[in-house]
Parts: sequence; C-alpha cells; structure tokens
Amino acid sequence: MRFETIAIHAGERPDEMFGAVSVPIYQTSTFVFEDVGKTRGYDYSRTANPTRKVLEDTIAALEGGKAGFAFATGMAAEATVIHLLKCGDHVISGDDVYGGTYRLFQDVMPDFGLEFTFLRMDSRQTIEAAIKPNTRMLWLETPSNPLLNIVDVEMVVDIAKKHNLMTVIDNTFATPYFLRPIEYGVDLVVHSTTKYLNGHCDVVGGAVVTTTEELTERVQFLLNAMGTCASPFDCWLVLRGIETLPVRMKQHAENATSVANYLSGHPAVKRVFYPGLDSHPGHEIAKRQMKGFGGVVSFELKEGTGAVSSFLKRIKVFSLAESLGGVASLAEHPATMSHASMPKEHREKAGITEELIRLSVGLENIDDLIDDLRRAL
Ligand SMILES: *Cc1c(COP(=O)(O)O)cnc(C)c1O
Repeated sequence: MRFETIAIHAGERPDEMFGAVSVPIYQTSTFVFEDVGKTRGYDYSRTANPTRKVLEDTIAALEGGKAGFAFATGMAAEATVIHLLKCGDHVISGDDVYGGTYRLFQDVMPDFGLEFTFLRMDSRQTIEAAIKPNTRMLWLETPSNPLLNIVDVEMVVDIAKKHNLMTVIDNTFATPYFLRPIEYGVDLVVHSTTKYLNGHCDVVGGAVVTTTEELTERVQFLLNAMGTCASPFDCWLVLRGIETLPVRMKQHAENATSVANYLSGHPAVKRVFYPGLDSHPGHEIAKRQMKGFGGVVSFELKEGTGAVSSFLKRIKVFSLAESLGGVASLAEHPATMSHASMPKEHREKAGITEELIRLSVGLENIDDLIDDLRRAL
C-alpha cells in the first residue's frame, strides 16, 4: 500500500472485537489472564497496550522500519534511545539540534559517563575527524531546528557504516511524508509526535522506529524498564492526526513556500531560512533527499531585538508560542524560548542570533497569513 493508505489503515483495524472503524481507546492498566501464564497478548499497559500498538505499527509502516514504539514525549523517546549506550561511549551530534536534545546531551547524560561532541554535520572531513575509538553513535537532525540546516543523510550513513557506528535521526521536522531516512540506511528514527504527526497542538508524544531485530528487542526492553511509554488516549489522538498527515504536510509546505518567498522580498528582513529557497545552502541536497521542504520558516530581522519584540507583539493570526507542526500558525523567538536552554556562546556559534524568529506556518488561508506578517513587519 501507498503512504496515504498506510496512514489510515495500518495496524489492526477495524478492531476484532466489534469492528469499530475508529481504533478503540483501551484505557486500562491491566489485562485478564486466560490462565496462569497465558495472556491474550497483553498483560500490563506499560509493557504493551492495544491502542498504542496500532500507533506503533502505523509509524513503523510509514517510516518503512521494523518496529515502532510510542513514548510519552519526544524527549522520553530520546532519553530511551540514548540508553542504548553505555558509560564511556561517545556520541557525535549536530550542533543545532532541538534545544531539549542539546540539554539532555550536555547537562544530563555526561553525569552517567557519556561523552558528546557537537558539530555542523556538513562535511565528511569534520565528522570523520571527530570520530574516536569510543564513538558509538551519530545523531542527526534534518532540517535542523531552528535554522533548517540540511544534513546529507546518505553521506552520514556512509561514514557511519565505514566506522561501524549507529545512526539516529530526529525526523520530526520532515516527517516520513517528506523524508524516509531508513531508505538511506539510518538505524533508528526518533520523533516528537507532538509536532506534525499529531498536528493539532493537543498532545505531547514521541516515537522511535527500529530497523533490526536486535534494536527492536532492546528498545522494547528499555521502554518497559524505564516506563517512558505513551498513554492510550494520547496514542489515539496521534493516530487520528496521522490519518491526515499527507494532506496537511502538502498544505504546510505550500503555505511555507509562499511565506518564505514573501519574507525574502521584504526590506525589513535580513535573511530567510527555508530549504525550499534556491538561496538556501542545503537546497540541492534537500531537493535530492526530500519530497517536500516542510512547514517551518525562520528569518532574521534587520534591526536589533526591539524590532523582534514589536513584531512578535503585533502578529495576530500567528500566535506567540513554542512548538510547531500544528494546524494553527505559531511564531517564536528561539534565543529566549525554544533554545534558551542552550548557552549563549553555543547558540551564537550555531548561528541562532537574537534577531532570529521561527515561524511554524499553519493551514490558515495563505492571504491571511501574509497580511498578518505584512502588518507586523
Ligand atoms: C519538540 C522536539 C523534540 C522534543 O519533543 P517533545 O515532544 O517536546 O518532548 C525533539 N526534537 C525536535 C526536532 C523537536 O521539535
């Protein structure tokens, strides 16, 4: 089956008990055993839950992976995946990853003996030079948050295979509709389902997709041991969101392209970051590896921070809020909001300036979105 059909029909649907077309919400902590040592496939909802299972199967099918796992948040998914490593292991990560990812890697995991190197993943030479005898994992995010830098997934996988390293990609921004990393040989895909997969700003959630039996067993073990799984109701919401993922992504990308083009021609705007623009340094790679450029557009205003705050005060259709990927358009200031947990010097090195604004372009009428930006600018 093709992507749009998988998004609506993957997993066990309709349900076997009564044929409900909408996946039932199995809001239960525990399941009756048929006999001592004999279950009907489920015993306790931390370990596995039927509603969660449909979501997990759906995400795995959309990514083309072996198995899927649903987590309470994107960070719960990431925290679980990083536990695949052991004390003394070294990870090479993109330098402009999601702020919470950076915080987990910089401020939490080193206390447990993991080592991290952050770098711009745009050259084979830089990445290879950072590999040490204890390097185990390459962690990438493309398009990155908030600068929409593009990582050449094929190149990173090639390096990883040569050095026997595990690759993990955060596919939150592109979603499997626009980028299918497993086709390039990536080992693990992580998601914040909070964003496009759910798409309605009404749930926080995460997911992991595996590619081998060994990784599947280990992630299932860790999810159960650490208790990082998602609730049945949250899984149901994400499932409902995923059914419209293809149509939403198409429209997000169309609206974002119009917004990027509009901003590029505005005299108050210094620079626009959108992988769909010819001027974007990663445009050629993005065109090659992605089916579309996504719904996030970042831009820098010409003047200082005063201009940023008056712009953010004036917008009306865009709401001033963190997060992204929902039907409603949002605007935020990475330096004081999503990336405040990143130290100033690291932010500056990564190119996240005080003048940078990130837009999550939603599904409102494009003329209303452009009018709103025009007024605010
Ligand atoms: C939001 C986000 C996360 C974290 O997900 P939560 O659901 O907020 O825990 C991780 N990676 C990216 C790219 C994100 O945008």
